[in-house]
Amino acid sequence: MHLSERSSGFVDLENAFGGKNYAPLPVVLSRGKGARVWDVDGKEYLDFLSAYSAVNQGHCHPKIVGALRDQAERLTLTSRAFYNDQLGPFEAWLCGLLGFERLIPMNSGAEAVETAIKLARRWGYDVKGVPQDRGKVIVCSGNFHGRTLGIISASTDPASRGGFGPYLPGFITVPFGDLEALEKALEDPDVVGFLFEPIQGEAGVVVPPEGYLSGASALCRKVRVLFIADEVQTGLARTGKMLACDYEQVKPDLLILGKALSGGILPVSAVLGSSEVILTIRPGEHGSTFGGNPLACAVARAAVEVLLDEKLAESAFASGKVFRERLSSLNSPLIETVRGKGLLNAIVIRPHGDNGKGGKRTAYDLCHELAEHGVLAKQTQVHTIRFAPPLVITGPEMEQGLSVIESVLKRAAESL
Ligand code: PLP
Repeated sequence: MHLSERSSGFVDLENAFGGKNYAPLPVVLSRGKGARVWDVDGKEYLDFLSAYSAVNQGHCHPKIVGALRDQAERLTLTSRAFYNDQLGPFEAWLCGLLGFERLIPMNSGAEAVETAIKLARRWGYDVKGVPQDRGKVIVCSGNFHGRTLGIISASTDPASRGGFGPYLPGFITVPFGDLEALEKALEDPDVVGFLFEPIQGEAGVVVPPEGYLSGASALCRKVRVLFIADEVQTGLARTGKMLACDYEQVKPDLLILGKALSGGILPVSAVLGSSEVILTIRPGEHGSTFGGNPLACAVARAAVEVLLDEKLAESAFASGKVFRERLSSLNSPLIETVRGKGLLNAIVIRPHGDNGKGGKRTAYDLCHELAEHGVLAKQTQVHTIRFAPPLVITGPEMEQGLSVIESVLKRAAESL
């Protein structure tokens, strides 16, 4: 991709002074509105990533930015050493909306997942009667729950996990989507929780077989194991329902939310559950300086209200259908699979052509080409591209994005 002098300046600074724990596409963004973003040279793009599904409500949504501005002028952070006038009302409202008794607010998704693991262990010891320090959490192969040491200990991805040991014990891994394997793992009496993504986002938008969520929920209930849904990526309307678990009418014992909980404005996350589970952690045993801050609560309330007011789950459901139908009907020999739910979708492509470095072109090369033509998307695995635009994307914008994607894929298919 050609980079202007201006853009190169920003890329060079990151390369010179930043850690190299990311490999961004060479696009330097400076402005966003709805489903559109602009780079420092004023070039416009359609955002088909939404900051990994954090910007479900669209970039700089005026209602959320308004809530941010109003609250920022009044009070931003008190710490939990004191009460504030935003946290309680927000907790009551979100619990009421989603049907839970209590929540613990955190900031990043990873922190909320860690909180859920701690809650499961504590509940296991205090309520279920598992002997101290023996609690185990079942996780799925291919999972992605974040980057902390606890979480990567549960990962099967060598890139996330490799070279950071020693790892936290107490995880059992089962294949994703396999109820028999889960049932077998649940025979261990020390299991306290089953932690899963309803659709595995980072693994490449892997959708489990129908009936998996309801089957897994029933199996967990039978042996009194907490059913813990990590909906950091799938939740809050992304997959065409408020929660991806709603597709199978299952209610998790612990629900983990993050990302779009603030519409991409601030890091805000939460774990929701029953009093029986949430109250097993007592004062001083867990927390975060910023978790539950009044600014985050005001922003999160506005962000979730936008999802409801603008019926974004319904929009995602409808436009996701159009998206998958259009890409499937291409019948392109380049595309192995089109999959997803709502506006969390991915295509798996065949290696093709010549990448100029002695190999075949992969999803990475296609993402570069898409960016050149004004569509921003990112590969999740070597051969998979995730497409997850903001849920506010309009019909004409979707049409525009699809026609770019279709023409890039058609051209690539010629080099198969
Ligand atoms: N859980 C899931 C399912 C995710 O997709 C992610 C991030 O991509 C996380 C947790 C971690 O969230 P964060 O990056 O905010 O820590």
